[in-house]
Amino acid sequence: MDIGEFKPQYEKGNYKYYYCNGNEMPLYTDFEKMCEELPNVYVGTHDSGMLCAHNMPCCICKVNHAVFVMPKGIFEPCWKCQKEGYEIIKRSPKAKRGIIDRIFDWIYHD
Ligand SMILES: [Zn+2]
Repeated sequence: MDIGEFKPQYEKGNYKYYYCNGNEMPLYTDFEKMCEELPNVYVGTHDSGMLCAHNMPCCICKVNHAVFVMPKGIFEPCWKCQKEGYEIIKRSPKAKRGIIDRIFDWIYHD
């Protein structure tokens, strides 16, 4: 499938969102196959350990670069999205969670 022949529903930077299976739309099964491989993400750290360059986009806005947290080795949303309140949160597995967490689960139907 040549994705270039289809028009995305919307796009933002390198992020393109397609509806599938409709008239003049890509087949979803073709899309699944095309998306099996993850994109290449490159991370390079300066030998001082103080600088880092990468090409990971922010998972929220998809336009800015994500923030690489070197001690944890994870990507947080970009600074602008973090100012809006987005962040990566690691929750405890359900078996280890306390009664307060279970109450939140019940309230928010997680
Ligand atoms: Zn962002």
